[in-house]
Amino acid sequence: MIVRLIVFIAIFAIGWWLYRQFIMFKSRQSPATSEKTEKTKASKEEDKQESMVRCEQCQTFMPRSHAIHDQDAHAFCSAEHLKAFHNKAD
Ligand SMILES: [Zn+2]
Repeated sequence: MIVRLIVFIAIFAIGWWLYRQFIMFKSRQSPATSEKTEKTKASKEEDKQESMVRCEQCQTFMPRSHAIHDQDAHAFCSAEHLKAFHNKAD
């Protein structure tokens, strides 16, 4: 009776150990994958949410991050157009 109990506990312990090994193996693999997926998703959403601004000089639309802004919050496609716009204004 006692022997059976010991065998049962031993089998249970081995099973639990195998289960732990399996969980550790899975958790070691999945974080890298999910992190990569989330990063790609985040950058995609950023691109989608990025608003477009128009160059005051040539009226070309471009993403806000690509534009150059002056003190009056005017957007320009390039430093040349910023300069040209201010030369025209003066
Ligand atoms: Zn321009």
